[in-house]
Amino acid sequence: LRRSCLCRPINIPRTKPTNEVLNLIKDFCVTDKDLKEYMKLLMADLHKGLAKATHPKSIVKCYPTYIQDLPTGQEVGKFLALDLGGTNFRVLMIELQRNHFESISTTFVIPQEKMVGSGKDLFDHVAACLHIFIVEQKLESECMPLGFTYSFPLVQKALDRGLIERWTKGFKCEDILGDDVVKVLQEALIRRGIHKNVKIKAVLNDTAGTLMACAWKSPYCRVGLIVGTGTNACYVEKQQNAEMFDGQDHGGGIVLINCEWGAFGDDGSLNFIRRPEDDEIDKNSINPGRQLHEKMISGMYMGEIVRLLLLKCTKHGALFGGKASSELNQRDRFLTKYVSEIESDEPGKFDNCKAVLEELDLKNANESDYANVRYICEMVSRRAAYMCSAGLCTLIKKTGEKRVTVGIDGSVYRFHPHFHDLMMEKMSSLIKPGVVFDLMLAEDGSGRGAALTAASAL
Ligand code: BGC
Ligand code: MG
Repeated sequence: LRRSCLCRPINIPRTKPTNEVLNLIKDFCVTDKDLKEYMKLLMADLHKGLAKATHPKSIVKCYPTYIQDLPTGQEVGKFLALDLGGTNFRVLMIELQRNHFESISTTFVIPQEKMVGSGKDLFDHVAACLHIFIVEQKLESECMPLGFTYSFPLVQKALDRGLIERWTKGFKCEDILGDDVVKVLQEALIRRGIHKNVKIKAVLNDTAGTLMACAWKSPYCRVGLIVGTGTNACYVEKQQNAEMFDGQDHGGGIVLINCEWGAFGDDGSLNFIRRPEDDEIDKNSINPGRQLHEKMISGMYMGEIVRLLLLKCTKHGALFGGKASSELNQRDRFLTKYVSEIESDEPGKFDNCKAVLEELDLKNANESDYANVRYICEMVSRRAAYMCSAGLCTLIKKTGEKRVTVGIDGSVYRFHPHFHDLMMEKMSSLIKPGVVFDLMLAEDGSGRGAALTAASAL
């Protein structure tokens, strides 16, 4: 676990663009005033999601997860976990031994056509991958508890029951909308003949897994955040505020709330900071009009926003001598990892930037192009980090706690060189005076968090 170090001075490079690019991109900057407005709106939406009377029409759904027990540190045992919802699908085996754990995992690719095909095909693939893992690890004669990290909106009915509400992040298996995802998985395990090897104990969101994994180490963890392919957060709420929660209290009086904040803005509330590029991204996505907040922030879209801005500046003659390459004209061709690479260059040097531009066949780019490209990357990643910061400050406020640790995972947070610092900086200025916070990389929430959740069900 990486701890934020408040004593280390925050030093975030700021590249100077040309005046033309500065002007063309200037409305991509979100001010503190914007962020304060954003926080008010999000807080109102959280209340709508939580309350029975307003929940049906709410945008930020705030689903109760049925996780009511934070880890005690006494969890032991061997667990299987499935991690479905990012770019890759993973199968894991985790052994918890009180304050220590070991894990083994295998990553599988999900073919594009299975992401947008029938639910049966997708889950047959999931079962087939699990089968390979069971054989590889020689678990054919065992029956192990399994935690299923399923990172899409889910109307949870119990710790091991949840109805598929919608798909996000490039997945779209519409025939199983409304179905219980645990049952869908169980049926695939039966078809595959491996149902005797596993007992599905819990289904959970990746944000919940991240919170659990972090809480296992940090007693102050109350919030989990993912900034990866998609974005979302969860937090610890009092059961009395979670009106949609109908479970039996375990005595703690708390329940984890899966906010599904990716959908924030779907009613137009974020239009005051959305830009033409955000519209363009949305229009070309497989879920137009949905997950508008996510589309401004997460890794599935960040590179494409940069690409659209690069094209805009090029069209105005402010970049690449006014001439784009056919590569740059290709949708989704500017990968989000390029943003991290370009911003990893030492200030004043542009080695990665040059390499990326060469890959995009922009061979005649000059020094001022490099600085402009980097500046555009900085603007886009900064906007994302600032919005996450405002979101987290809102959730911290909602917990009512004076000291909160946030567990975070996801490729953008992990690999972007300044995302953590940008968040530390912005949150320090937005947080209510007197409240102390801490941002922690919670490695492998989807595995360890799933195991801890399954353990809590045993
Ligand atoms: C999903 C969330 C998930 C997030 C991060 C979003 O698209 O709706 O359930 O937590 O991505 O993976
Ligand atoms: Mg993930």
